[in-house]
Formats: sequence, C-alpha cells, structure tokens
Amino acid sequence: MLENLTDKLGSALRNLRGVGKLSEENMAEALKEVRQALLSADVHFKVAREFVATVKEQCVGQEVLKSVTPGQQVIKIIHDELVKLLGEGATELEDKKPLRIMMVGLHGSGKTTSSGKLARYMAKKRDYRPALVACDVYRPAAIDQLEMLAKNEGCTFYGDREEKDVVQIGKRGLQAAKEADANLIIFDTAGRLQIDENLIEEIKRLKAEVQPDEILLVADAALGQEAVNVAKHFHEAVGCTGIILTKLDGDARGGAALSMKSISNVPIKFMGTGEKSDEFDLFHPDRMASRILG
Ligand code: GDP
Repeated sequence: MLENLTDKLGSALRNLRGVGKLSEENMAEALKEVRQALLSADVHFKVAREFVATVKEQCVGQEVLKSVTPGQQVIKIIHDELVKLLGEGATELEDKKPLRIMMVGLHGSGKTTSSGKLARYMAKKRDYRPALVACDVYRPAAIDQLEMLAKNEGCTFYGDREEKDVVQIGKRGLQAAKEADANLIIFDTAGRLQIDENLIEEIKRLKAEVQPDEILLVADAALGQEAVNVAKHFHEAVGCTGIILTKLDGDARGGAALSMKSISNVPIKFMGTGEKSDEFDLFHPDRMASRILG
C-alpha cells in the first residue's frame, strides 16, 4: 500500500507545531510531501494534483483547534478527503434475484479467481444460489479452472469447450442456470494481455445477449499508472458498474484504487486479498484510507 503517509509527513507536520492558523506558507512543505507520497504510490499525476489542491483549499485559513495539534488537524483533512475520493461507504451489489453479473478485465487480473470468490461471498453472505458460466473461448484452461472453482463452491457450472461463439454460450448458460434454479449467474469472460478491440466487441455482444445487471471490472492493484487507462477503456466500451481490486495482499502501492475511482468514477465494490476463495471482501473506503495514512 501507500507507504505510511503519516510517517512520511512526520517532519513536515512537526514544523507546523505551535502555529495558530494554517497558511499557504506553513503548509507548503507538508503538501509537497503529500503529493510526492501519492506519486510514488503510482497515483495518476492528475489525481495527485487535484487531491493536493483540494486539501490545500480546505486547510488554508483554518484556525488550529485547541484540542489537536496542527499536524493532527491536517491528517484528519487528508483522511476525510481520501475517503471521499475512494467512495464514501462500502457498496453492495444490487439486491435482485435473479442477478446477472459479467466479469471483465485483462488476462491475469484475477477474473476467474474472483468469479469463484464472488459466488462464494454471495452464497454465504447474501443467500444466493450461484451459477458460473465460462465464456472464455480461447483458453480451455480457463474453463477447467472455473469448473473446478464451481465444484469447490458447490455451485452450478456451464461451459462448452467446442463452442466458439460467446453469445451461444451466454444463451445456453442462462438456460442451464434457470434449469438448476440458480438465481445468481456470473459470466467469466476472456481477457487479453492488452485491451484489444476484438475482445471488446465480443464482450459487447455477450452483454447484449445476457443483459447483465452488473458489469464488474477486475483489476490488479499492481497495475499502477496503467490502471487509469484500463478502467477508462473498459468503462467507455461496456459501462462498468463496479471494480474488483485484486492482489491487495501484494506489495502494490494502492495508487491504482485512488486513480481508477477518481478518473472513471466507477465505485470499487470488492477487494481480493489472497489466492484463497475466502480472501475477498467488500471494499471499505474508510479502512483503505486509514491503511494509506497508517
Ligand atoms: P484471469 O486471467 O483474470 O482469470 O486471472 P486468474 O483468476 O487466473 O488469476 C491469475 C493469478 O492471480 C492466479 O495465480 C490467482 O491465484 C492470482 N490471484 C487472483 N486474485 C488474487 C489476489 O487477490 N491475491 C493474490 N495474491 N493472488 C491472486
């Protein structure tokens, strides 16, 4: 994650000791440190610039409260702004049965793993009966992987290793889910190493056929600066309703979360924190902000 911002800001904030009012001059060093910390955590430069400008606007001219030090007051402003940027409260998926979810994202982002994790989460926490539908027509291994996850979670699976048309798979997957009395249908789509127009076209065709209620973009937290392009591209092409940020257990510096949410305005709904099926939870902006601040 972002290296502990509070530590990084330590000396800059100590210099504020004793000031009665926050000013452009006495805040300059701390704001520079904030900007630097954001950039080194791979936050997109535009997002970092806007963030610092907002924090500055809120700080300058404020009388320092009697009950806290100027440093604590600045940290509180930064924390609140981070929460705002990351999206206020946690966002659950739509409360609808049946619920159709399409998973999109680059290859290796954790789409298939997250499909299994989401099925488990929705079954355990929201009382859904999930079905997993394999819509990757290029990688048989991806179909096997999803089938295995479905078996482990005890949910319905549909896949067809011979069929090369995702629209047909989508249609038959819906039918199979209905016959099995599933009320949550998760479509795991193919990914590529880069965004590719053929892939986007295929996702659009599948979307038109299965009419998903939610389109979740699965993104690796380690994407760094590239996260913004990925989120923008998928969102503009298919209209994402949420982001699943994966691999937050790794040494990714979390900048991707801030950048994707603030530039695409698509809420981050879930986070993956490991390879195991229960290492997955709702995304809590306030917890993430506290983690960033340390
Ligand atoms: P896909 O190509 O997008 O379907 O990606 P996969 O679901 O196959 O995942 C790619 C790799 O990332 C696999 O080795 C997963 O075990 C791993 N992975 C997925 N999510 C997480 C996570 O939250 N944390 C960690 N550490 N690994 C993950």
